[in-house]
Amino acid sequence: MTQLEREQWDVVVVGAGGAGLRAAIEARERGARTAVICKSLFGKAHTVMAEGGIAASMGNVNSGDNWQVHFRDTMRGGKFLNQWRMAELHAQEAPDRVWELETWGALFDRTADGKISQRNFGGHEYPRLAHVGDRTGLELIRTLQQKIVALQQEDFREFGDYEARLKVFQECTVTSVLKEGERVSGTFCYERESGRFFVLEAPAVVLATGGIGKSFKVTSNSWEYTGDGHALALLAGAPLLNMEFVQFHPTGMVWPPSVKGILVTESVRGDGGVLRNSDGKRFMFDYIPDVFKEKYAESEAEGDRWYEDPDNNRRPPELLPRDEVARAINSEVKAGRGSPHGGVFLDVSTRMTADVIQRRLPSMYHQFKELADVDITAEAMEVGPTCHYVMGGIAVDSDSAATPGVPGLYAAGEVAGGMHGSNRLGGNSLSDLLVFGRRAGLHAAEYAAALTTRPVLDEGQIDAAATEALRPFGAEAPEGGGAPENPYSVHQELQQTMNDLVGIIRREGEMEQALQRLGELRSRAARAGVEGHRQFNPGWHLAIDLRNMLLVSECIALSALERTESRGGHTREDWPGMALDWRPVNLHCRLNDSARDPATDPTLARISLSRKTTEPIRPDLLALFEKEELVKYLAEEELHE
Ligand code: FAD
Repeated sequence: MTQLEREQWDVVVVGAGGAGLRAAIEARERGARTAVICKSLFGKAHTVMAEGGIAASMGNVNSGDNWQVHFRDTMRGGKFLNQWRMAELHAQEAPDRVWELETWGALFDRTADGKISQRNFGGHEYPRLAHVGDRTGLELIRTLQQKIVALQQEDFREFGDYEARLKVFQECTVTSVLKEGERVSGTFCYERESGRFFVLEAPAVVLATGGIGKSFKVTSNSWEYTGDGHALALLAGAPLLNMEFVQFHPTGMVWPPSVKGILVTESVRGDGGVLRNSDGKRFMFDYIPDVFKEKYAESEAEGDRWYEDPDNNRRPPELLPRDEVARAINSEVKAGRGSPHGGVFLDVSTRMTADVIQRRLPSMYHQFKELADVDITAEAMEVGPTCHYVMGGIAVDSDSAATPGVPGLYAAGEVAGGMHGSNRLGGNSLSDLLVFGRRAGLHAAEYAAALTTRPVLDEGQIDAAATEALRPFGAEAPEGGGAPENPYSVHQELQQTMNDLVGIIRREGEMEQALQRLGELRSRAARAGVEGHRQFNPGWHLAIDLRNMLLVSECIALSALERTESRGGHTREDWPGMALDWRPVNLHCRLNDSARDPATDPTLARISLSRKTTEPIRPDLLALFEKEELVKYLAEEELHE
């Protein structure tokens, strides 16, 4: 029996980004003793990097906005593959979540008449993104942290202990969700600085671990995005949904190489930035797909007029959903019309004066000045697609955020699937975190409170988790001699494989090749070894994370191979169109039972894939669309129904 510290909680929230903090606040406010655990320093989660804003149909800048319009935009953006009930709840509840943030102290930018200001973003019909310059995520996290501290102060007054009902374990990683039978019993964790193992015993666990970007070479994501929550859920027996849908944001930095992939916020285009190729042409006018033709300007003049008079003009195609813009940039570069460093030009200097740019886009101004020596108030930026967000994720119940088949396991935020369908609209993540973070916290707390007996820890699972975590210290050398595998080399090859073979444009043969390489990388990762000891040892942490990245990558490649159509973030060169009969199909990935046995040959596929039919969209929600639009998306039998 492994000797380690154990603490008892009602709810454990894994992740302290927007989703995790909102879940923790709700669970604690519902009376659950709640622990939050995060890999990074408290306050340093990925959410901090969010720039452009949070989407909510408050109608402050255009009173035509309401939840129905937001719902429609979200469904169109996701090409109707969204879990429609999530899209409905999200559109209805997002304004309340923003106003609530304000009552907790968030300071949003204001309109001239003192309301929360809202800006334009791709795919949103009206200005909808509440923002704080281009540092919205920072304000969101700051506000949620402040609320957590306020709750801890309340507890101190009542119990003489700040951590009586809400405690944060920072710089600690969860490597396993523990179970008693089917139901959750806690988490196995290690402290990154000391390497100390510990267990948080709890009947309810909320996974809020964010995304998977670090499996790709060019990404806007931070080091934390190694798909941990996705893998934890798979290993605990929950399915992952539609993992083929990975969002490549159209505008990442392409130069210099050390910063390739860092995000250039969509606010640049929302505030009037135009995209040009090396011929100086505004090429997006050539890439408006049929489903969007009626909603976008036909000429530069009309697009330009829209900024001043949106009611009588259509929006410019630079504001098409991200998948469309990313593909267009990719095509221009491939056709030899790219910028010197393999991107295209994004120019905001001709639209706004230098001081307005510095006020509205301060981070972008500094980012380009400091990292690329480019003054965006006077010259164009060079930009190209970067892996940004995963729409696929843990399958959840729309209302409660509960995972199917694993009582006590919940998921919210980027790690959860369904909400965004095949493509997420900008700004819809921050609102998703708050809406579903709150719901996950609420339902996890209610579930824990309703239990008559607490689940019991299984010592065998704890021993197995400890053995697995320590394996890189005793890694075997490959047959024939030589050193054990270097986790950094395996990681680099994984990133290159995913970028080259399962990237923005996909082909059958390449994905098959990727799956074969992933098999090889899995067996190399099983031999990845590290030197030294458990005190802060980044090589060891990476060796542990490799398991997660490889599992998630396998799910992405398998699902992408299976879906023989192009939809949203999934583009198949060999299956170019959107196929109506794929609209009602969800792909579920589950871990094979044999894969849980460490003796199984790691080169063998561990994931099984199944097709599930989606629930029919409720008629009153379908009635929000014109029939002429629905025929572009829905399969014939769905229309008849
Ligand atoms: P995160 O904020 O990433 O939090 C994940 C947490 O989980 C972290 O605390 C991490 O330490 C922890 N964690 C992970 N694994 C483990 C583990 N094994 N054990 C313990 N803890 C773990 N969206 C918008 O809506 N608007 C925007 O303007 C916007 N701008 C963006 C700009 C950039 C540069 C990027 C990269 C993304 C942007 N997004 C934006 C997307 C959005 O920021 C993310 O989708 C969102 O912040 C994810 O939040 P989350 O709470 O799900 O996860």
